[in-house]
Amino acid sequence: MNIGIVGGGALGLAAAYELTRMGHTPAVYERAPVLGGQASTFDVGGGRLERGYHHLFRSDTSMVELIHELGLGDKLAWIESKVGFYHGGRIYPFTTPLDLLRFSALSFWNRVRLGLVTLYLQRKKYWPREYERVTAEAWIKRHAGQKVFDTVWGPLLRGKFGERSGEVSMAWLWGKVYLRVSSRGKGGAKELLGYPMGSFAEIFEALERAIRDGGGEVHYPTTVQRVVTDGGRATGLQIQHADGTSETRSFDRVLLTAPSSIVPRLAPELPEEYTRRLTHVQYQAAVLIVLVLDRPLTNVYWLNIADRTIPFVGLIEHTNFIDKSLYGGNHIVYLSNYLGKESELYAMAPDDLWQRYIPGLKSINPAFDESWVKERHYHREDAAQPIIGLDYSNRIPSLKTPIEDLWLANTTQIYPEDRGTNYSVRLGRLVARMMIGEAPVRMWWE
Ligand SMILES: Cc1cc2nc3c(=O)[nH]c(=O)nc-3n(C[C@H](O)[C@H](O)[C@H](O)COP(=O)(O)OP(=O)(O)OC[C@H]3O[C@@H](n4cnc5c(N)ncnc54)[C@H](O)[C@@H]3O)c2cc1C
Repeated sequence: MNIGIVGGGALGLAAAYELTRMGHTPAVYERAPVLGGQASTFDVGGGRLERGYHHLFRSDTSMVELIHELGLGDKLAWIESKVGFYHGGRIYPFTTPLDLLRFSALSFWNRVRLGLVTLYLQRKKYWPREYERVTAEAWIKRHAGQKVFDTVWGPLLRGKFGERSGEVSMAWLWGKVYLRVSSRGKGGAKELLGYPMGSFAEIFEALERAIRDGGGEVHYPTTVQRVVTDGGRATGLQIQHADGTSETRSFDRVLLTAPSSIVPRLAPELPEEYTRRLTHVQYQAAVLIVLVLDRPLTNVYWLNIADRTIPFVGLIEHTNFIDKSLYGGNHIVYLSNYLGKESELYAMAPDDLWQRYIPGLKSINPAFDESWVKERHYHREDAAQPIIGLDYSNRIPSLKTPIEDLWLANTTQIYPEDRGTNYSVRLGRLVARMMIGEAPVRMWWE
């Protein structure tokens, strides 16, 4: 079967790879000049680096399996993570359960409550459906108290969902806490994070090779303008090449992996009820400033910023995770924010945003000076994080759309796990099998 795939991120490439393995001929179209979508890379100091920080958890088994299948197992490193929590003008270590017990920003009693609630969620193998009907904020406040929420969970949720964090359901938080614990070694002490040495681009390049070797095609930069339909059936794609010329290609089936927000434009024939589901889920944008420094800024990899006077929510010092020698000896720091389009920071020009961030950096490291910055990059990903609100499972659009032979698979259908490359690979391979009749066409939430 000839199958057209819109999007050359982890999901579209994994789907195409699976289809070639099953003897079919997919053609992937990616509008960007590089593959990898949200996990794509750019060049820094002779090495390649993700535009937004990326790592893997131990629980990311679909991605780990794929990496081994592609022959890249020896490139996958597992490294102890160093997590910090910035509160009240100081960095607290926040990696092990012992760190949690020593977290003096909370009273001893509140530390015990924080520890007990975290342990409860980590041990809870299955989530009750009522978690869909209560926000994470309300649940944590009820079980751990206002102070624990304001000091720890509130800032952590804001770090992921920005100003929309109050809408997030408890089902999502359960998924996050439960799966994260699998990244700890036995005894729950150290957390190991994975990274494909040479960057995630190694995986996407290997996928591209495997797809081509299997008889498939991968085209980029090539934009899909719309899905061609005939009598309620998807029959092809209208494509625009980089030189501005357009063509229509026929396919037996079509898979869209683009964000839901642009799907109604790609397939305007979709019925209203389905389109409503697509537009119901909203996304937070990720806004990143990447600094290339001549020296380190902190001694942790992942710093959660729990201080509302600082205008970013995460400081991720990549070279406290992966050795700086891979980037020409430079130190690399991401300043991260998740923002709605209405936010003032979202609309700011990169230079203005940087000026806004500088005082925050000086609070975290008073010695910081702008002369440390050798390069500064700005990246924005508009559909970075679907907002997982209440009653989410009843609102997810089905993978098989109401247009015959048109399928949709994207990050909004990953639930209750937090979206990530692992789940895009899992969903990509699954939808590929569904499309060719090799897997039942039903997700647990349908
Ligand atoms: C800041 C940040 C940090 C992250 N950190 C991690 C992490 O540490 N670990 C992890 O596993 N995951 C992480 N993620 C999440 C992970 O990157 C995504 O969940 C995953 O890459 C999504 O893959 P996808 O293929 O589903 O979607 P996408 O990567 O969004 O791919 C969709 C593709 O479709 C293309 N497209 C859209 N419209 C068209 C069109 N009309 N024609 C052609 N192409 C089109 C887009 O250009 C895009 O490449 C992070 C994400 C962000 C933003």
